[in-house]
Amino acid sequence: MTSSQQRSFIGNSCPLCGAGDLERFLSASDYISGDRFDVVRCLRCGAAITEAHDAAGYYDEGYYGQRKSFVEGAVNSFRVRKLSRMAGSDPRKELLDIGCGNGSFLMAARRDGWDAQGTEIAPSSHIMTGAGAFIRSGDFLRLEFPADRFDGVTLWHSLEHVTDPAGYIRKIGSVLKPGGFVMIEVPDIDSLQAEAFGENWFHLDVPRHLFHFSPESLKRLLEENRFTDISVRPGSFIYCYFGWLQSILNKVSRRKNLLFDLMNGKISAREAYAKHARDMMTTVACVPFAVVFAALFSVLGMCLGRSGVMLVSARKKS
Ligand SMILES: [Zn+2]
Repeated sequence: MTSSQQRSFIGNSCPLCGAGDLERFLSASDYISGDRFDVVRCLRCGAAITEAHDAAGYYDEGYYGQRKSFVEGAVNSFRVRKLSRMAGSDPRKELLDIGCGNGSFLMAARRDGWDAQGTEIAPSSHIMTGAGAFIRSGDFLRLEFPADRFDGVTLWHSLEHVTDPAGYIRKIGSVLKPGGFVMIEVPDIDSLQAEAFGENWFHLDVPRHLFHFSPESLKRLLEENRFTDISVRPGSFIYCYFGWLQSILNKVSRRKNLLFDLMNGKISAREAYAKHARDMMTTVACVPFAVVFAALFSVLGMCLGRSGVMLVSARKKS
């Protein structure tokens, strides 16, 4: 990768809150390419930003993975339940899922009665059978939607990947009906696991994660765009738990995210033993302890309000 893909925010203002107080935070390497990236942090809103223009060249085929269907099914059923709670007694009407991936969540929402559609930048070959008809391909910012169209908008682990989150929030405000809701789940840079593991934090994922939000940074962004009833809650327990588990293992293994890649089928156990024998043995030896510690710390993080991922929801002012 060329150095032209690095950008520097030092000396510039925070793209989220406009403050000029940005300082160097950490430096981390991409576990796929090995390239190193600096991350800066805004002293006012607490968000951290990867110094990379665009991570388009850093998504390999395996990134989208073959997530095990039982994990995907469990994650989607929790998401649909949260969606129902957010909608309350409102009729289930039009929903937009931005960065919908293979479309499995929007299909689950459709089964729950929503007229759901999605947008996705990733290649269409990753879309699940049957979902293609409801997915518009491309960047949400470049796609046209009528104003005041949707009753709800969801972003499950997609806002941290975009180059202009402030533009996304502005546009979400325009496509939502007055009183409509937005639900955003992203990793929390203020979480216990982010603080404990720094550059080894599983959910840091540079350079694909361009923005690392704090609760404060998202609250500010939503308030500035005339959203109300803003709430920040712990996000997916599965994502939080795996964040602890893989981050603990990243501390003892030189090959980062080995368990994650094994679970996704990106690397086979045979290949892992052949290429990373020592790391594989360390991982296998540490897993029994890591699964217990990960569970304990996940609960602790949630109790302290510092879960690894957060779910931020809000409504457009009527
Ligand atoms: Zn800021």
